[in-house]
Amino acid sequence: MKQRLSILGSTGSIGVQTLDIVAENPDKFEVTSLAAGSNWELLARQAIRFDVDTVVIADTTKYEPLRQALASHPIKVFTGSDSLSQIVRSSEVDVVVNALVGYAGLHPTVAAIKAGKKIALANKETLVVGGDLVMRLAAERRVPILPIDSEHSAIFQCLAGEHSPIRRLIVTCSGGALRDVPKEQLADVTPERALQHPQWSMGAKITIDSATLVNKGFEVIEAHWLFGVDADRISVLIHPQSIVHSMVEFEDGAIKAQLGTPDMHMPISYALMFPQRASRPSEQFDFLANPTLTFAEPDRDKYPALDIAYDCMRRGGTAACVMNGSNEVAVAAFLAGKCRFIDITASIEYALSKATFVAQPTLADYEASNEESRALAAEYLKL
Ligand code: NDP
Repeated sequence: MKQRLSILGSTGSIGVQTLDIVAENPDKFEVTSLAAGSNWELLARQAIRFDVDTVVIADTTKYEPLRQALASHPIKVFTGSDSLSQIVRSSEVDVVVNALVGYAGLHPTVAAIKAGKKIALANKETLVVGGDLVMRLAAERRVPILPIDSEHSAIFQCLAGEHSPIRRLIVTCSGGALRDVPKEQLADVTPERALQHPQWSMGAKITIDSATLVNKGFEVIEAHWLFGVDADRISVLIHPQSIVHSMVEFEDGAIKAQLGTPDMHMPISYALMFPQRASRPSEQFDFLANPTLTFAEPDRDKYPALDIAYDCMRRGGTAACVMNGSNEVAVAAFLAGKCRFIDITASIEYALSKATFVAQPTLADYEASNEESRALAAEYLKL
């Protein structure tokens, strides 16, 4: 029987690659619903091509052109943020692929878990902000959360069939677009420069997060929640070639790694087909063309965001939510030319120093914390 997908963020980097996997496997998947932010033209083309039942466009000003583009098709069109949580609950959906960017991913994930839907999760902000609540809810409802993020997919693959305790998770890190730029020059980095990731082609926000190492900090938090490993047993290792996607060390000293070309189709297909694997004959890694794999310590002085994320993970509560909210505002400001690259981490530090801390947050507390942290970042950046 085909799995019926709801793909949130279908017009983005992960969303488009998810649809590639669907197109490669028409006997395994069909798409029930798609959701996007504002790119109504691509959303309309996707909806027609994959013959979906329902689309959601978050930007209300794009509702009318989208509705007109789909007028001759039997496709329902909705707008507004509540619509995301509604489409994931549909009885016509088996799996929710959450490829939204940012805090916007949290509520639909919670709605999907409450409705008992399997989650293929790219939206790491869901776990950064609300990992405690989300993982508890998923355990209660017995809902699997399958990671799409390549590092977490690698760890998940290394853990398949293992029942022994983990000594350490080793999360690898390309070093981002600015890994060869000296710390003193970071203040002058332009958005165009910071968007030139050496290995991965991704959405703008995660590419900037990779350059600040906020992304790696977020991935450490994500790994903590997904695999139940505490901060002191998760290490980050710079690996510029991005061939080893992450590793698990066991108590006997054995280390398992998952390797491959840097291409998100692989982890996406693994999340969708687990416990099977996709057949992708064109995917052939050539060791002789990549004879050198190197590893190094991250420069924690150049990239303070990594330790900030570890601190947030240890503090728990709303700390990481504050880091996320302030980061989202600062990254958008940097991309719009309204602040410097180094102001991103400074905004996070400012927000964390001022924000209200809630130790055992509810969903409403996360909402308030997100709002407060965004306002604090805007205040710091004088936006
Ligand atoms: P993109 O920016 O490329 O895409 C984001 C998607 O979300 C777009 O479809 C966008 O729509 C949509 N969107 C944004 N805001 C809303 C909203 N409020 N309501 C509905 N839809 C919205 O991001 P990526 O694909 O790069 O990343 C998605 C997630 O996956 C992130 O959490 C990222 O950290 C994670 N991830 C990404 C990787 C990658 O290789 N790209 C790798 C590992 C993790 P539109 O464009 O139409 O506005």
